[in-house]
Amino acid sequence: MRLCEQCEEPGKLRCGGCRESHYCSKECQELGWSVHKHLCKTFKDFHDRPAPEEPRGRVYRAIYFHPDEDVPRFVWLKCERVVPTYQDVLAGGYLATNEGEAQPDVFISTNSHPIGRNRALGRNLKHTIELEFREAFLYDGSKPNKAILKIVDRSSKYLHNWKGPILAYGTDLVHFPSSDPNPHYGVDLTPVDLKHLSDYLSTYLCPDPFDDSEVQQERKARHNVLKAAFKEEMVLGVRINCDGDVKVDGRPKYEGIKLPISHPIFGQDPVDISDQVGLSILVRRVPDSVEGWARRPDHGGFRRPWVNQAATFLHRDLNPNAERVKFHIEYTCFTGFGMAPIEWQRGVGAVMAIRKDKKKLHPHHVAALVDYSQVHLTGWFQGAHEGRIAREDALRQVSREKFEHYWKEWKARNKSTQVSPYEV
Ligand SMILES: [Zn+2]
Ligand SMILES: [Zn+2]
Repeated sequence: MRLCEQCEEPGKLRCGGCRESHYCSKECQELGWSVHKHLCKTFKDFHDRPAPEEPRGRVYRAIYFHPDEDVPRFVWLKCERVVPTYQDVLAGGYLATNEGEAQPDVFISTNSHPIGRNRALGRNLKHTIELEFREAFLYDGSKPNKAILKIVDRSSKYLHNWKGPILAYGTDLVHFPSSDPNPHYGVDLTPVDLKHLSDYLSTYLCPDPFDDSEVQQERKARHNVLKAAFKEEMVLGVRINCDGDVKVDGRPKYEGIKLPISHPIFGQDPVDISDQVGLSILVRRVPDSVEGWARRPDHGGFRRPWVNQAATFLHRDLNPNAERVKFHIEYTCFTGFGMAPIEWQRGVGAVMAIRKDKKKLHPHHVAALVDYSQVHLTGWFQGAHEGRIAREDALRQVSREKFEHYWKEWKARNKSTQVSPYEV
C-alpha cells in the first residue's frame, strides 16, 4: 500500500480528483490540499500523451513553474531521444523565453538538482525529480517565481529566493543511495511529485543536506500546529465575496466557510448594525483579496473588482454623534452617522463574517441582513444624513424586532427554508 502523502501512515484513502495522491485520513488530505489543489484538477487533461514529433523522440509529463503565473502547471516536455539524459530533454525553451520551443540560438546556462529523497517525510522516491533552473537566476535579472511561492511553506526558515522559470521532470535514475550507471528513462510526473517538490523547496536551505533529522523536526512541528488547528472546534460563518470573485471567478455572493475558534476574528468587536439587531456579527477582510485582484492582469476586466457593497452596508456607523465628513478620492463619498467609515467604502475585497457567540451563521442570514441595511435602512439614513429625518427615528429602524420582521419577509420572498438566526 502507498504511504500517506502527509505522514508515515498507510495511505488508505485516494484523492477522488486525480486518483494519484494517497492519504491516511481526511485530515491529512485537507492539510495537503493547499498545495495539491494546484495540479489535482488539471491532471485529467494530461492523460493522453501527444505523439512525438520525431521517431526516436518522446514526450513526458513535467511540472512547469512560470515566474509570471500564479500557479504551477503540467506541460508535455519533448525529448529528442528515448533516453532523456540531461542534454536530451528539450527544457531550453521553458527556461528561456518562448516556452516549450527549443531555441538553439538562445543559450541559457541551466543547472539541475536531482531530488531522489523526501527528507521531510524520511522517504526515498521511486524515481528522481530533476529540478532545472537558470544557473545565474539570482544575478541575471530573472523575476521572482510566483508559482513556486504558491507551493512552499512561507513560514519555513529554509526558503530560497527562487527566480526565473523552473521546470521539474522525472527520470528513473536512482540517485540514492548510489548513482546508477545504466541508461535511464523518463518518468511522467503526477500531482504526488508536487508534494515532494513542495517539501524540497520548503527545506532547501537546511544546512546539512545529508541529515534528514533537522528537516523532519521542522516538518513535524509545523504539521502538528496545522493538525491542532484542524482538530480544533470550527465555527460556521460566511464569506462575502467581492465583485471580482462573483463576476469573474463565478463564486456565489455569500459562501459558507469554517473558521477555527482560535481565529483572530473572535477578538474583534461586532459590527454596529448586528449588535443593534441582537446578533453580534464579526466581520474581517479576507487577507490578500484586494492585493490578489490588483495583481491579476487587467483586474479580470473590471476597474474595481475588489468592490464589496454588501460589506460596506454592514458597516454603517450608528453613533448619533458621528460627524459628517466629505472625502474626495477618485469619487466623492461621505462618512458619519449612518455611513460606513472610509476604509469600508473603498478597496474592501472579500470579507468573512462570523457570529461572536459561535452559533452557526448561514449565508441567508447575512444576505438578509445586508438587504435589510441596503434596501430598508438606506432611505432612513439618507434622510438623517440630509437632515430631513431625526437621527433617533432612523436609529429606531435598527432593532431586533424590525429585523425579525424583515427576515420573515425576506425568507418568503427568497423561498428560503433556513431557520431564523434567532433560533439556531
Ligand atoms: Zn497521513
Ligand atoms: Zn487529487
